Amino acid sequence: MTKRVLVTGAGGFIGHHLVKRLVDEGYWVRGVDIKHPEYEPSPAQEFEILDLRRFDNCLIATRNVDEVYHLAADMGGIGYITAYHADISHNSAMINLHMIEAARVNAAERFLFSSSACIYPMYLQKSPDVTNLKEEDAYPAEPEEGYGTEKLFMEEMCKYYQEDYGFQTRVVRFHNVYGELGTYEGGKEKAPAAISRKVALASDGDEIEVWGDGEQTRSFMHVDDCVEGIYRIMQSDYHHPLNLGTDELVTINQLVDLVAEVAGKTLVKRHDLSKPQGVRGRNSDNNKLREVLGWEPQITLREGLAPTYRWIESELATAGRIPQPA
Ligand code: NAD
Repeated sequence: MTKRVLVTGAGGFIGHHLVKRLVDEGYWVRGVDIKHPEYEPSPAQEFEILDLRRFDNCLIATRNVDEVYHLAADMGGIGYITAYHADISHNSAMINLHMIEAARVNAAERFLFSSSACIYPMYLQKSPDVTNLKEEDAYPAEPEEGYGTEKLFMEEMCKYYQEDYGFQTRVVRFHNVYGELGTYEGGKEKAPAAISRKVALASDGDEIEVWGDGEQTRSFMHVDDCVEGIYRIMQSDYHHPLNLGTDELVTINQLVDLVAEVAGKTLVKRHDLSKPQGVRGRNSDNNKLREVLGWEPQITLREGLAPTYRWIESELATAGRIPQPA
Protein backbone atom coordinates (compact mmCIF):
# COMPACT_ATOMS: atom_id res chain seq x y z
CA MET A 1 0.00 0.00 0.00
CA THR A 2 1.21 3.51 -0.76
CA LYS A 3 2.67 5.14 2.31
CA ARG A 4 1.03 8.43 3.30
CA VAL A 5 3.27 11.13 4.71
CA LEU A 6 2.93 14.68 5.98
CA VAL A 7 5.59 17.33 5.37
CA THR A 8 5.15 20.48 7.47
CA GLY A 9 6.93 23.60 6.26
CA ALA A 10 6.21 22.33 2.73
CA GLY A 11 5.98 25.91 1.47
CA GLY A 12 9.51 26.55 2.72
CA PHE A 13 12.93 25.87 1.26
CA ILE A 14 13.88 22.39 2.54
CA GLY A 15 10.25 21.23 2.92
CA HIS A 16 9.50 21.93 -0.75
CA HIS A 17 12.57 19.99 -1.92
CA LEU A 18 11.62 17.14 0.42
CA VAL A 19 8.07 16.98 -0.98
CA LYS A 20 9.50 16.67 -4.50
CA ARG A 21 11.77 13.84 -3.40
CA LEU A 22 9.03 11.92 -1.54
CA VAL A 23 6.59 12.23 -4.46
CA ASP A 24 9.35 10.88 -6.75
CA GLU A 25 9.83 7.96 -4.33
CA GLY A 26 6.14 7.05 -4.78
CA TYR A 27 4.74 8.34 -1.48
CA TRP A 28 1.37 10.03 -1.13
CA VAL A 29 2.30 13.43 0.31
CA ARG A 30 0.33 16.07 2.17
CA GLY A 31 2.15 19.37 2.42
CA VAL A 32 1.17 21.90 5.09
CA ASP A 33 2.35 25.47 5.59
CA ILE A 34 1.03 29.00 6.10
CA LYS A 35 2.17 29.79 2.55
CA HIS A 36 2.66 28.09 -0.81
CA PRO A 37 6.22 27.58 -2.14
CA GLU A 38 7.42 30.88 -3.55
CA TYR A 39 9.14 29.87 -6.77
CA GLU A 40 7.21 26.86 -8.20
CA PRO A 41 4.04 24.91 -7.37
CA SER A 42 4.20 22.02 -4.91
CA PRO A 43 3.82 18.52 -6.42
CA ALA A 44 2.20 17.28 -3.16
CA GLN A 45 -1.02 15.33 -3.72
CA GLU A 46 -2.64 17.56 -1.10
CA PHE A 47 -1.47 20.99 0.08
CA GLU A 48 -3.21 22.67 2.97
CA ILE A 49 -2.71 26.16 4.33
CA LEU A 50 -2.86 25.77 8.12
CA ASP A 51 -1.36 27.74 11.00
CA LEU A 52 0.33 24.99 13.03
CA ARG A 53 0.58 27.11 16.16
CA ARG A 54 -3.02 25.93 16.75
CA PHE A 55 -3.60 22.41 18.07
CA ASP A 56 -6.83 21.92 16.11
CA ASN A 57 -4.93 22.62 12.87
CA CYS A 58 -2.19 20.15 13.87
CA LEU A 59 -4.88 17.48 14.30
CA ILE A 60 -6.19 18.25 10.80
CA ALA A 61 -2.66 18.16 9.36
CA THR A 62 -1.78 14.79 10.92
CA ARG A 63 -4.99 12.89 10.06
CA ASN A 64 -4.47 9.58 8.21
CA VAL A 65 -0.71 9.71 7.73
CA ASP A 66 1.92 7.07 8.46
CA GLU A 67 4.88 9.40 8.90
CA VAL A 68 5.43 13.06 9.75
CA TYR A 69 8.41 15.06 8.50
CA HIS A 70 8.13 18.12 10.69
CA LEU A 71 10.04 21.07 9.22
CA ALA A 72 7.75 24.03 9.91
CA ALA A 73 9.42 26.67 12.10
CA ASP A 74 9.73 30.40 12.45
CA MET A 75 13.23 30.83 11.15
CA GLY A 76 15.67 32.95 9.19
CA GLY A 77 19.28 34.00 8.76
CA ILE A 78 21.54 35.38 11.49
CA GLY A 79 20.08 38.91 11.30
CA TYR A 80 16.58 37.55 11.88
CA ILE A 81 17.29 34.96 14.59
CA THR A 82 19.32 37.39 16.69
CA ALA A 83 16.66 40.13 16.51
CA TYR A 84 13.41 38.30 17.41
CA HIS A 85 14.03 35.92 20.31
CA ALA A 86 10.53 36.10 21.80
CA ASP A 87 8.60 35.72 18.54
CA ILE A 88 10.76 32.90 17.20
CA SER A 89 10.69 30.92 20.44
CA HIS A 90 6.99 31.43 21.01
CA ASN A 91 5.91 30.55 17.48
CA SER A 92 8.15 27.51 17.08
CA ALA A 93 7.41 26.14 20.56
CA MET A 94 3.65 26.34 19.90
CA ILE A 95 4.10 24.61 16.54
CA ASN A 96 6.37 21.89 17.91
CA LEU A 97 4.46 21.00 21.08
CA HIS A 98 1.18 20.80 19.20
CA MET A 99 2.60 18.90 16.24
CA ILE A 100 4.21 16.08 18.21
CA GLU A 101 1.12 15.60 20.36
CA ALA A 102 -1.23 15.65 17.35
CA ALA A 103 0.97 13.15 15.49
CA ARG A 104 0.86 10.82 18.51
CA VAL A 105 -2.90 11.21 19.05
CA ASN A 106 -3.51 10.47 15.37
CA ALA A 107 -1.27 7.38 15.62
CA ALA A 108 1.41 8.32 13.12
CA GLU A 109 4.17 5.70 13.17
CA ARG A 110 7.13 8.06 12.96
CA PHE A 111 7.89 11.72 13.62
CA LEU A 112 11.04 13.43 12.35
CA PHE A 113 12.02 16.76 13.91
CA SER A 114 14.31 19.21 12.12
CA SER A 115 16.67 20.52 14.76
CA SER A 116 19.72 22.65 14.16
CA ALA A 117 23.43 23.06 14.81
CA CYS A 118 22.32 26.19 16.74
CA ILE A 119 21.63 23.91 19.73
CA TYR A 120 25.39 23.46 20.29
CA PRO A 121 26.99 25.38 23.17
CA MET A 122 28.31 28.84 22.36
CA TYR A 123 31.38 28.17 24.54
CA LEU A 124 32.58 25.56 22.01
CA GLN A 125 32.29 27.98 19.08
CA LYS A 126 34.41 30.95 20.07
CA SER A 127 37.30 30.32 17.68
CA PRO A 128 37.30 30.08 13.86
CA ASP A 129 39.69 27.16 14.26
CA VAL A 130 37.00 24.79 15.49
CA THR A 131 36.84 21.26 16.80
CA ASN A 132 34.04 19.52 14.93
CA LEU A 133 30.86 19.28 17.00
CA LYS A 134 29.84 15.80 18.11
CA GLU A 135 26.27 14.93 19.09
CA GLU A 136 27.17 14.50 22.78
CA ASP A 137 28.70 18.01 22.90
CA ALA A 138 25.17 19.46 23.24
CA TYR A 139 25.50 19.31 27.05
CA PRO A 140 26.33 21.15 29.30
CA ALA A 141 24.04 23.37 27.24
CA GLU A 142 24.52 26.96 26.12
CA PRO A 143 22.56 27.10 22.85
CA GLU A 144 22.02 30.08 20.53
CA GLU A 145 19.50 32.23 22.37
CA GLY A 146 15.88 31.90 21.32
CA TYR A 147 16.06 29.74 18.21
CA GLY A 148 18.61 27.23 19.58
CA THR A 149 17.12 27.07 23.08
CA GLU A 150 13.71 26.25 21.67
CA LYS A 151 15.14 23.56 19.35
CA LEU A 152 17.01 21.94 22.24
CA PHE A 153 13.84 21.84 24.33
CA MET A 154 11.98 20.18 21.45
CA GLU A 155 14.76 17.60 21.06
CA GLU A 156 14.11 16.67 24.70
CA MET A 157 10.37 16.43 24.00
CA CYS A 158 11.11 13.95 21.21
CA LYS A 159 13.14 11.90 23.68
CA TYR A 160 10.33 11.98 26.27
CA TYR A 161 7.70 10.92 23.72
CA GLN A 162 9.96 8.07 22.65
CA GLU A 163 10.52 6.98 26.27
CA ASP A 164 7.04 7.50 27.70
CA TYR A 165 4.85 6.47 24.75
CA GLY A 166 7.21 4.37 22.60
CA PHE A 167 6.51 6.96 19.88
CA GLN A 168 9.15 6.64 17.12
CA THR A 169 10.92 10.00 16.89
CA ARG A 170 13.92 11.05 14.78
CA VAL A 171 15.98 14.19 15.53
CA VAL A 172 18.16 15.72 12.84
CA ARG A 173 20.57 18.61 13.49
CA PHE A 174 20.98 20.43 10.17
CA HIS A 175 24.15 22.44 9.58
CA ASN A 176 23.62 25.46 7.22
CA VAL A 177 21.62 24.33 4.20
CA TYR A 178 21.73 26.20 0.87
CA GLY A 179 20.60 25.61 -2.68
CA GLU A 180 18.24 26.51 -5.50
CA LEU A 181 14.73 27.81 -4.68
CA GLY A 182 15.90 29.19 -1.31
CA THR A 183 15.13 32.66 0.03
CA TYR A 184 17.79 35.08 -1.20
CA GLU A 185 16.60 38.44 0.10
CA GLY A 186 14.33 40.16 2.61
CA GLY A 187 16.29 39.42 5.83
CA LYS A 188 15.55 35.69 6.24
CA GLU A 189 18.21 34.51 3.76
CA LYS A 190 21.41 32.73 4.86
CA ALA A 191 25.01 33.57 3.97
CA PRO A 192 25.39 31.56 0.70
CA ALA A 193 22.18 33.05 -0.75
CA ALA A 194 22.89 36.58 0.53
CA ILE A 195 26.40 36.49 -0.90
CA SER A 196 25.19 35.06 -4.22
CA ARG A 197 22.67 37.91 -4.48
CA LYS A 198 25.30 40.55 -3.70
CA VAL A 199 27.73 39.04 -6.20
CA ALA A 200 25.06 38.77 -8.91
CA LEU A 201 24.05 42.42 -8.41
CA ALA A 202 27.66 43.65 -8.49
CA SER A 203 29.62 44.55 -11.61
CA ASP A 204 33.11 43.17 -12.12
CA GLY A 205 35.54 45.14 -9.90
CA ASP A 206 32.83 46.42 -7.51
CA GLU A 207 32.91 46.34 -3.70
CA ILE A 208 30.53 44.05 -1.84
CA GLU A 209 29.57 44.13 1.82
CA VAL A 210 30.47 41.15 4.03
CA TRP A 211 29.07 40.80 7.58
CA GLY A 212 31.80 40.66 10.26
CA ASP A 213 35.48 40.33 9.38
CA GLY A 214 34.74 37.31 7.19
CA GLU A 215 37.08 35.06 9.18
CA GLN A 216 34.14 33.29 10.91
CA THR A 217 33.95 29.67 9.74
CA ARG A 218 31.09 27.33 8.79
CA SER A 219 30.29 24.22 6.79
CA PHE A 220 27.50 24.34 4.20
CA MET A 221 25.32 21.50 2.87
CA HIS A 222 23.53 21.50 -0.47
CA VAL A 223 19.78 20.92 -0.15
CA ASP A 224 19.90 17.72 -2.27
CA ASP A 225 22.22 16.16 0.32
CA CYS A 226 19.98 17.44 3.11
CA VAL A 227 16.89 15.79 1.61
CA GLU A 228 18.78 12.55 1.02
CA GLY A 229 19.96 12.55 4.64
CA ILE A 230 16.49 13.31 6.05
CA TYR A 231 15.04 10.44 4.02
CA ARG A 232 17.72 7.98 5.17
CA ILE A 233 17.42 9.02 8.83
CA MET A 234 13.64 8.53 8.75
CA GLN A 235 14.15 4.95 7.47
CA SER A 236 16.84 4.19 10.08
CA ASP A 237 16.05 2.83 13.54
CA TYR A 238 18.20 5.46 15.29
CA HIS A 239 16.18 7.78 17.54
CA HIS A 240 18.91 9.91 19.14
CA PRO A 241 19.95 13.28 17.65
CA LEU A 242 22.17 13.11 14.56
CA ASN A 243 24.19 15.79 12.81
CA LEU A 244 23.39 16.29 9.15
CA GLY A 245 25.94 18.53 7.44
CA THR A 246 29.22 18.49 5.59
CA ASP A 247 32.54 18.79 7.38
CA GLU A 248 34.07 20.98 4.65
CA LEU A 249 35.00 24.04 6.74
CA VAL A 250 35.35 27.45 5.03
CA THR A 251 35.63 31.05 6.18
CA ILE A 252 32.95 33.46 4.98
CA ASN A 253 35.72 35.22 3.00
CA GLN A 254 36.44 31.92 1.21
CA LEU A 255 32.73 31.51 0.55
CA VAL A 256 32.67 34.96 -1.07
CA ASP A 257 35.70 34.04 -3.20
CA LEU A 258 34.06 30.80 -4.34
CA VAL A 259 30.85 32.58 -5.36
CA ALA A 260 32.85 35.28 -7.18
CA GLU A 261 34.76 32.55 -8.99
CA VAL A 262 31.53 30.81 -10.07
CA ALA A 263 30.27 34.22 -11.28
CA GLY A 264 33.56 34.98 -13.08
CA LYS A 265 33.88 38.33 -11.24
CA THR A 266 36.72 39.96 -9.32
CA LEU A 267 35.27 41.81 -6.31
CA VAL A 268 36.55 43.80 -3.34
CA LYS A 269 35.21 42.87 0.11
CA ARG A 270 34.10 45.62 2.48
CA HIS A 271 33.72 44.18 5.99
CA ASP A 272 30.94 45.61 8.16
CA LEU A 273 31.89 44.83 11.75
CA SER A 274 28.64 46.26 13.11
CA LYS A 275 26.60 43.42 11.57
CA PRO A 276 25.87 40.15 13.43
CA GLN A 277 28.14 37.26 12.48
CA GLY A 278 26.90 34.49 14.81
CA VAL A 279 29.30 32.08 16.43
CA ARG A 280 32.96 32.43 15.46
CA GLY A 281 33.39 28.93 14.08
CA ARG A 282 31.28 25.80 13.63
CA ASN A 283 31.73 22.45 11.90
CA SER A 284 29.93 19.12 11.92
CA ASP A 285 31.48 15.90 13.25
CA ASN A 286 30.08 13.20 10.95
CA ASN A 287 31.41 10.07 12.69
CA LYS A 288 28.04 9.13 14.17
CA LEU A 289 26.23 9.86 10.90
CA ARG A 290 28.61 7.59 8.97
CA GLU A 291 28.27 4.89 11.61
CA VAL A 292 24.44 4.97 11.59
CA LEU A 293 23.77 5.49 7.87
CA GLY A 294 26.97 4.35 6.16
CA TRP A 295 26.54 7.61 4.25
CA GLU A 296 27.29 11.33 4.55
CA PRO A 297 26.67 14.40 2.36
CA GLN A 298 28.49 14.10 -0.97
CA ILE A 299 28.20 17.48 -2.72
CA THR A 300 31.21 19.79 -2.34
CA LEU A 301 30.63 23.50 -1.75
CA ARG A 302 32.04 24.36 -5.17
CA GLU A 303 29.70 21.84 -6.88
CA GLY A 304 26.65 23.02 -4.96
CA LEU A 305 27.28 26.77 -5.26
CA ALA A 306 27.33 26.74 -9.06
CA PRO A 307 23.62 25.84 -9.60
CA THR A 308 22.62 27.92 -6.56
CA TYR A 309 24.34 31.03 -7.88
CA ARG A 310 22.98 30.49 -11.41
CA TRP A 311 19.45 30.17 -10.05
CA ILE A 312 19.66 33.38 -7.97
CA GLU A 313 21.29 35.21 -10.89
CA SER A 314 18.49 34.11 -13.24
CA GLU A 315 15.82 35.23 -10.74
CA LEU A 316 17.42 38.69 -10.54
CA ALA A 317 17.89 38.82 -14.32
CA THR A 318 14.19 37.99 -14.85
CA ALA A 319 13.35 40.86 -12.50
CA GLY A 320 15.56 43.14 -14.62
CA ARG A 321 17.96 43.82 -11.76
CA ILE A 322 21.29 42.52 -13.12
CA PRO A 323 23.58 45.35 -14.26
CA GLN A 324 24.27 45.13 -17.99
CA PRO A 325 27.89 45.67 -19.15
CA ALA A 326 28.30 49.23 -20.48
P1 NAD B 1 11.89 27.96 5.77
O1 NAD B 1 11.64 29.20 6.58
O2 NAD B 1 12.05 28.09 4.30
O3 NAD B 1 10.73 26.90 6.05
C1 NAD B 1 9.98 26.87 7.23
C2 NAD B 1 8.51 26.91 6.84
O4 NAD B 1 7.70 26.85 8.03
C3 NAD B 1 8.13 28.20 6.10
O5 NAD B 1 7.61 27.93 4.81
C4 NAD B 1 7.09 28.82 7.01
O6 NAD B 1 6.04 29.49 6.31
C5 NAD B 1 6.56 27.62 7.77
N1 NAD B 1 5.88 28.06 8.98
C6 NAD B 1 6.28 29.05 9.83
N2 NAD B 1 5.33 29.25 10.76
C7 NAD B 1 4.33 28.37 10.50
C8 NAD B 1 3.08 28.12 11.10
N3 NAD B 1 2.67 28.82 12.17
N4 NAD B 1 2.29 27.16 10.58
C9 NAD B 1 2.68 26.47 9.48
N5 NAD B 1 3.87 26.66 8.85
C10 NAD B 1 4.67 27.61 9.36
O7 NAD B 1 13.16 27.25 6.43
P2 NAD B 1 14.01 25.98 5.95
O8 NAD B 1 15.37 26.47 5.70
O9 NAD B 1 13.29 25.23 4.90
O10 NAD B 1 14.03 25.15 7.31
C11 NAD B 1 13.24 23.99 7.54
C12 NAD B 1 13.54 23.45 8.93
O11 NAD B 1 14.94 23.14 9.02
C13 NAD B 1 13.23 24.41 10.07
O12 NAD B 1 12.72 23.71 11.16
C14 NAD B 1 14.60 24.99 10.40
O13 NAD B 1 14.65 25.45 11.72
C15 NAD B 1 15.50 23.79 10.16
N6 NAD B 1 16.90 24.18 9.88
C16 NAD B 1 17.23 24.80 8.70
C17 NAD B 1 18.55 25.15 8.47
C18 NAD B 1 18.98 25.83 7.19
O14 NAD B 1 20.16 26.10 7.02
N7 NAD B 1 18.07 26.11 6.25
C19 NAD B 1 19.54 24.90 9.44
C20 NAD B 1 19.16 24.29 10.62
C21 NAD B 1 17.84 23.93 10.83
